[in-house]
Amino acid sequence: MAEVYKEKIFEKAPHVDFVVGPNDIAKIPFIIKSLIVDKNSSLTNDLFEKKFWETDGEERPEDIYHTGYYENEKHAYVIISEGCSNLCSYCVVPYVRGPLKNRNYKSIIKEIEEAIEIGREEITLLGQNVNAYYYEDVDFVELVELVNSIKGLKNFSFITSHPKDTTLRLFKVMAECEKLKKYLHLPVQSGSNRILELMNRQYTIEFYLDLVEKYRKFVKGGILTTDIIVGFPSETEEDFYNTVRIVQTVKFDAAYIFKYSARPYTHAASFKDDVPLKEKEKRHQFILQLQKSISQLKKTSDVILT
Ligand code: SF4
Repeated sequence: MAEVYKEKIFEKAPHVDFVVGPNDIAKIPFIIKSLIVDKNSSLTNDLFEKKFWETDGEERPEDIYHTGYYENEKHAYVIISEGCSNLCSYCVVPYVRGPLKNRNYKSIIKEIEEAIEIGREEITLLGQNVNAYYYEDVDFVELVELVNSIKGLKNFSFITSHPKDTTLRLFKVMAECEKLKKYLHLPVQSGSNRILELMNRQYTIEFYLDLVEKYRKFVKGGILTTDIIVGFPSETEEDFYNTVRIVQTVKFDAAYIFKYSARPYTHAASFKDDVPLKEKEKRHQFILQLQKSISQLKKTSDVILT
Protein backbone atom coordinates (compact mmCIF):
# COMPACT_ATOMS: atom_id res chain seq x y z
CA MET A 1 0.00 0.00 0.00
CA ALA A 2 2.90 2.32 0.77
CA GLU A 3 4.31 1.69 -2.70
CA VAL A 4 0.99 2.33 -4.45
CA TYR A 5 -0.53 5.21 -2.48
CA LYS A 6 2.63 7.00 -1.31
CA GLU A 7 1.81 10.45 0.15
CA LYS A 8 -1.93 9.96 -0.59
CA ILE A 9 -2.00 7.83 2.56
CA PHE A 10 -1.74 11.03 4.62
CA GLU A 11 -5.00 12.26 3.09
CA LYS A 12 -6.81 8.99 3.81
CA ALA A 13 -5.31 8.55 7.26
CA PRO A 14 -4.17 11.88 8.71
CA HIS A 15 -2.91 10.20 11.89
CA VAL A 16 -0.18 8.39 9.92
CA ASP A 17 3.22 9.97 10.51
CA PHE A 18 5.40 8.39 7.89
CA VAL A 19 5.14 5.90 5.04
CA VAL A 20 7.89 3.52 3.99
CA GLY A 21 7.85 1.01 1.12
CA PRO A 22 9.21 -2.55 1.47
CA ASN A 23 12.55 -1.73 -0.14
CA ASP A 24 13.15 1.22 2.13
CA ILE A 25 12.43 -0.19 5.55
CA ALA A 26 16.13 -0.01 6.41
CA LYS A 27 15.65 3.77 6.45
CA ILE A 28 13.09 3.74 9.30
CA PRO A 29 15.62 4.44 12.07
CA PHE A 30 17.02 7.40 10.11
CA ILE A 31 13.55 8.77 9.40
CA ILE A 32 12.61 8.57 13.07
CA LYS A 33 15.91 10.17 14.01
CA SER A 34 15.47 13.04 11.55
CA LEU A 35 11.91 13.65 12.75
CA ILE A 36 13.01 13.67 16.37
CA VAL A 37 15.80 16.14 15.56
CA ASP A 38 13.16 18.36 13.95
CA LYS A 39 11.49 18.63 17.31
CA ASN A 40 14.63 19.28 19.30
CA SER A 41 14.73 15.68 20.49
CA SER A 42 11.72 16.11 22.73
CA LEU A 43 9.10 13.33 22.54
CA THR A 44 5.76 15.07 22.35
CA ASN A 45 2.41 14.13 20.82
CA ASP A 46 2.96 16.28 17.77
CA LEU A 47 6.42 14.81 17.30
CA PHE A 48 5.74 13.66 13.76
CA GLU A 49 3.75 16.56 12.40
CA LYS A 50 6.10 16.68 9.43
CA LYS A 51 4.89 13.98 7.00
CA PHE A 52 7.49 11.77 5.36
CA TRP A 53 7.46 9.02 2.75
CA GLU A 54 10.11 6.81 1.22
CA THR A 55 9.10 4.36 -1.47
CA ASP A 56 11.73 4.58 -4.18
CA GLY A 57 14.20 1.92 -3.05
CA GLU A 58 15.16 -0.51 -5.79
CA GLU A 59 16.77 -3.28 -3.85
CA ARG A 60 15.83 -4.50 -0.40
CA PRO A 61 19.13 -4.68 1.54
CA GLU A 62 20.11 -8.24 2.43
CA ASP A 63 20.32 -7.62 6.18
CA ILE A 64 16.75 -6.33 6.17
CA TYR A 65 15.39 -9.75 5.22
CA HIS A 66 16.72 -10.87 8.56
CA THR A 67 14.10 -9.21 10.69
CA GLY A 68 15.05 -10.90 13.95
CA TYR A 69 11.35 -10.63 14.74
CA TYR A 70 9.98 -14.04 15.46
CA GLU A 71 6.47 -15.20 16.27
CA ASN A 72 7.32 -16.82 19.59
CA GLU A 73 10.19 -18.38 21.50
CA LYS A 74 10.10 -21.60 19.49
CA HIS A 75 9.15 -20.48 16.00
CA ALA A 76 10.62 -18.17 13.35
CA TYR A 77 9.38 -17.02 9.95
CA VAL A 78 12.27 -16.72 7.50
CA ILE A 79 11.83 -14.84 4.23
CA ILE A 80 13.26 -16.63 1.18
CA SER A 81 11.90 -14.36 -1.54
CA GLU A 82 10.03 -11.11 -2.08
CA GLY A 83 7.57 -10.01 -4.75
CA CYS A 84 6.04 -12.10 -7.50
CA SER A 85 6.30 -12.23 -11.29
CA ASN A 86 3.11 -14.17 -11.94
CA LEU A 87 0.64 -11.36 -12.62
CA CYS A 88 -2.55 -13.14 -11.62
CA SER A 89 -5.13 -10.71 -12.96
CA TYR A 90 -6.78 -9.95 -9.57
CA CYS A 91 -3.61 -9.57 -7.47
CA VAL A 92 -1.89 -6.35 -6.47
CA VAL A 93 1.26 -8.02 -5.09
CA PRO A 94 3.40 -7.70 -8.26
CA TYR A 95 2.61 -3.96 -8.35
CA VAL A 96 3.31 -3.22 -4.70
CA ARG A 97 6.12 -5.70 -4.08
CA GLY A 98 7.63 -5.79 -7.53
CA PRO A 99 8.87 -8.85 -9.44
CA LEU A 100 10.20 -11.96 -7.73
CA LYS A 101 13.51 -11.33 -5.91
CA ASN A 102 15.23 -14.33 -4.40
CA ARG A 103 17.36 -14.10 -1.31
CA ASN A 104 20.81 -15.67 -1.25
CA TYR A 105 20.37 -19.20 0.12
CA LYS A 106 23.54 -18.82 2.24
CA SER A 107 21.90 -15.93 4.11
CA ILE A 108 18.73 -18.01 4.58
CA ILE A 109 20.72 -20.89 6.08
CA LYS A 110 22.71 -18.49 8.26
CA GLU A 111 19.54 -16.86 9.60
CA ILE A 112 18.04 -20.27 10.43
CA GLU A 113 21.24 -21.34 12.22
CA GLU A 114 21.22 -18.12 14.22
CA ALA A 115 17.53 -18.58 15.09
CA ILE A 116 18.31 -22.09 16.35
CA GLU A 117 21.18 -20.74 18.44
CA ILE A 118 18.72 -18.49 20.30
CA GLY A 119 16.27 -21.33 20.91
CA ARG A 120 13.96 -21.45 17.88
CA GLU A 121 13.13 -25.01 16.85
CA GLU A 122 10.55 -24.52 14.11
CA ILE A 123 10.92 -22.51 10.91
CA THR A 124 8.44 -21.39 8.27
CA LEU A 125 10.01 -20.43 4.94
CA LEU A 126 8.07 -17.49 3.50
CA GLY A 127 7.53 -16.26 -0.03
CA GLN A 128 4.63 -15.31 -2.32
CA ASN A 129 5.54 -18.21 -4.59
CA VAL A 130 8.21 -20.29 -2.88
CA ASN A 131 8.33 -22.90 -5.66
CA ALA A 132 9.75 -20.35 -8.08
CA TYR A 133 12.77 -19.81 -5.77
CA TYR A 134 16.10 -19.87 -7.57
CA TYR A 135 19.43 -18.45 -6.47
CA GLU A 136 22.60 -19.24 -8.42
CA ASP A 137 22.40 -23.02 -8.84
CA VAL A 138 20.00 -23.70 -5.95
CA ASP A 139 16.28 -24.10 -6.63
CA PHE A 140 13.49 -24.50 -4.10
CA VAL A 141 13.71 -28.29 -3.83
CA GLU A 142 17.44 -28.04 -3.15
CA LEU A 143 16.83 -25.31 -0.61
CA VAL A 144 14.37 -27.60 1.19
CA GLU A 145 17.04 -30.32 1.31
CA LEU A 146 19.61 -27.85 2.64
CA VAL A 147 17.25 -26.65 5.38
CA ASN A 148 16.37 -30.22 6.31
CA SER A 149 20.06 -30.91 6.99
CA ILE A 150 20.52 -28.03 9.46
CA LYS A 151 21.59 -29.36 12.86
CA GLY A 152 19.32 -28.50 15.78
CA LEU A 153 16.27 -27.76 13.64
CA LYS A 154 13.24 -29.77 14.78
CA ASN A 155 10.81 -29.09 11.97
CA PHE A 156 9.97 -26.64 9.19
CA SER A 157 7.33 -25.82 6.61
CA PHE A 158 6.88 -23.41 3.70
CA ILE A 159 4.19 -21.15 2.32
CA THR A 160 2.82 -20.29 -0.34
CA SER A 161 2.97 -22.57 -3.38
CA HIS A 162 1.75 -21.83 -6.89
CA PRO A 163 0.38 -24.94 -8.67
CA LYS A 164 2.18 -24.19 -11.94
CA ASP A 165 5.60 -24.32 -10.19
CA THR A 166 4.83 -27.24 -7.90
CA THR A 167 6.45 -30.46 -9.06
CA LEU A 168 6.53 -34.18 -8.44
CA ARG A 169 10.20 -33.72 -7.52
CA LEU A 170 9.11 -31.51 -4.61
CA PHE A 171 6.64 -34.14 -3.39
CA LYS A 172 9.32 -36.82 -3.46
CA VAL A 173 11.66 -34.61 -1.41
CA MET A 174 8.80 -33.71 0.95
CA ALA A 175 8.32 -37.42 1.58
CA GLU A 176 12.04 -37.93 2.26
CA CYS A 177 12.80 -34.89 4.46
CA GLU A 178 12.04 -36.04 7.97
CA LYS A 179 12.00 -32.51 9.43
CA LEU A 180 9.64 -31.08 6.83
CA LYS A 181 6.00 -30.89 7.90
CA LYS A 182 3.72 -32.74 5.53
CA TYR A 183 1.68 -29.66 4.79
CA LEU A 184 0.93 -28.00 1.46
CA HIS A 185 -1.04 -24.80 0.88
CA LEU A 186 -1.95 -24.93 -2.80
CA PRO A 187 -4.36 -22.16 -3.85
CA VAL A 188 -6.81 -23.41 -6.50
CA GLN A 189 -8.85 -20.16 -6.68
CA SER A 190 -11.56 -21.55 -8.99
CA GLY A 191 -12.82 -24.85 -10.37
CA SER A 192 -13.66 -23.34 -13.76
CA ASN A 193 -11.04 -23.36 -16.53
CA ARG A 194 -12.66 -20.28 -18.07
CA ILE A 195 -12.29 -18.33 -14.82
CA LEU A 196 -8.76 -19.66 -14.22
CA GLU A 197 -7.80 -18.30 -17.61
CA LEU A 198 -9.33 -14.91 -16.84
CA MET A 199 -7.42 -14.98 -13.56
CA ASN A 200 -4.22 -15.73 -15.53
CA ARG A 201 -3.43 -18.61 -13.18
CA GLN A 202 -1.59 -20.53 -15.92
CA TYR A 203 -2.93 -24.00 -15.11
CA THR A 204 -6.09 -25.92 -15.79
CA ILE A 205 -8.26 -27.65 -13.23
CA GLU A 206 -7.17 -31.03 -14.68
CA PHE A 207 -3.53 -30.09 -14.02
CA TYR A 208 -4.43 -29.07 -10.46
CA LEU A 209 -6.28 -32.34 -9.77
CA ASP A 210 -3.35 -34.34 -11.14
CA LEU A 211 -1.01 -32.47 -8.74
CA VAL A 212 -3.29 -33.27 -5.81
CA GLU A 213 -3.30 -36.93 -6.78
CA LYS A 214 0.50 -37.01 -6.93
CA TYR A 215 0.82 -35.13 -3.63
CA ARG A 216 -1.42 -37.62 -1.87
CA LYS A 217 0.36 -40.57 -3.46
CA PHE A 218 3.86 -39.49 -2.47
CA VAL A 219 3.29 -37.45 0.70
CA LYS A 220 1.29 -39.97 2.70
CA GLY A 221 -1.16 -38.36 5.10
CA GLY A 222 -0.14 -34.87 3.92
CA ILE A 223 -2.36 -31.95 4.90
CA LEU A 224 -3.74 -29.94 1.98
CA THR A 225 -5.25 -26.45 2.22
CA THR A 226 -6.29 -23.93 -0.42
CA ASP A 227 -7.56 -20.44 -1.31
CA ILE A 228 -10.74 -19.83 -3.29
CA ILE A 229 -12.17 -16.63 -4.78
CA VAL A 230 -15.91 -16.54 -5.44
CA GLY A 231 -17.74 -13.96 -7.55
CA PHE A 232 -14.86 -13.22 -9.93
CA PRO A 233 -16.11 -11.02 -12.83
CA SER A 234 -18.40 -13.00 -15.16
CA GLU A 235 -18.51 -16.07 -12.86
CA THR A 236 -21.70 -17.92 -13.79
CA GLU A 237 -23.63 -20.41 -11.67
CA GLU A 238 -21.99 -23.17 -13.70
CA ASP A 239 -18.49 -21.79 -13.05
CA PHE A 240 -19.34 -21.59 -9.37
CA TYR A 241 -20.63 -25.17 -9.23
CA ASN A 242 -17.40 -26.32 -10.87
CA THR A 243 -15.64 -24.82 -7.85
CA VAL A 244 -18.12 -26.55 -5.53
CA ARG A 245 -17.32 -29.85 -7.26
CA ILE A 246 -13.58 -29.31 -6.71
CA VAL A 247 -14.16 -28.71 -3.00
CA GLN A 248 -16.26 -31.88 -2.83
CA THR A 249 -13.77 -33.93 -4.85
CA VAL A 250 -10.49 -32.82 -3.27
CA LYS A 251 -11.77 -32.58 0.30
CA PHE A 252 -9.27 -29.98 1.48
CA ASP A 253 -8.33 -29.98 5.15
CA ALA A 254 -9.07 -26.25 5.20
CA ALA A 255 -9.86 -23.49 2.71
CA TYR A 256 -9.62 -19.71 2.84
CA ILE A 257 -12.56 -18.37 0.86
CA PHE A 258 -12.72 -14.81 -0.40
CA LYS A 259 -15.35 -12.71 -2.14
CA TYR A 260 -13.82 -11.02 -5.17
CA SER A 261 -13.22 -7.30 -4.99
CA ALA A 262 -11.19 -5.26 -7.48
CA ARG A 263 -7.69 -4.17 -6.52
CA PRO A 264 -6.16 -1.01 -7.97
CA TYR A 265 -3.71 -1.36 -10.90
CA THR A 266 -4.71 -4.98 -11.59
CA HIS A 267 -5.87 -6.23 -14.96
CA ALA A 268 -9.10 -7.63 -13.46
CA ALA A 269 -10.00 -4.14 -12.21
CA SER A 270 -10.79 -3.34 -15.85
CA PHE A 271 -13.34 -6.21 -16.00
CA LYS A 272 -16.97 -5.52 -15.21
CA ASP A 273 -17.50 -6.54 -11.57
CA ASP A 274 -20.86 -8.01 -12.55
CA VAL A 275 -21.61 -10.60 -9.85
CA PRO A 276 -23.91 -8.77 -7.40
CA LEU A 277 -22.65 -8.54 -3.83
CA LYS A 278 -25.64 -10.53 -2.57
CA GLU A 279 -24.78 -13.35 -4.95
CA LYS A 280 -21.11 -13.23 -3.90
CA GLU A 281 -22.19 -13.52 -0.29
CA LYS A 282 -24.47 -16.46 -1.11
CA ARG A 283 -21.66 -18.30 -2.92
CA HIS A 284 -19.20 -17.46 -0.18
CA GLN A 285 -21.51 -18.85 2.50
CA PHE A 286 -22.25 -21.96 0.45
CA ILE A 287 -18.59 -22.95 0.06
CA LEU A 288 -17.80 -21.91 3.62
CA GLN A 289 -20.45 -24.24 5.02
CA LEU A 290 -19.45 -27.04 2.66
CA GLN A 291 -15.79 -26.72 3.65
CA LYS A 292 -16.73 -26.54 7.34
CA SER A 293 -18.55 -29.85 7.13
CA ILE A 294 -15.65 -31.45 5.21
CA SER A 295 -13.04 -30.16 7.70
CA GLN A 296 -15.19 -31.39 10.57
CA LEU A 297 -15.64 -34.81 8.99
CA LYS A 298 -11.90 -35.11 8.30
CA LYS A 299 -11.06 -34.20 11.90
CA THR A 300 -13.53 -36.83 13.13
CA SER A 301 -12.07 -39.51 10.87
CA ASP A 302 -8.53 -38.53 11.99
CA VAL A 303 -9.61 -39.06 15.59
CA ILE A 304 -11.11 -42.45 14.71
CA LEU A 305 -7.95 -43.47 12.83
CA THR A 306 -5.65 -42.46 15.67
S1 SF4 B 1 -1.91 -14.42 -6.39
FE1 SF4 B 1 0.08 -15.15 -5.66
S2 SF4 B 1 1.05 -16.02 -7.49
FE2 SF4 B 1 -0.60 -14.69 -8.23
S3 SF4 B 1 0.36 -12.69 -8.58
FE3 SF4 B 1 -0.47 -12.68 -6.49
S4 SF4 B 1 1.24 -13.30 -5.19
FE4 SF4 B 1 1.76 -13.87 -7.30
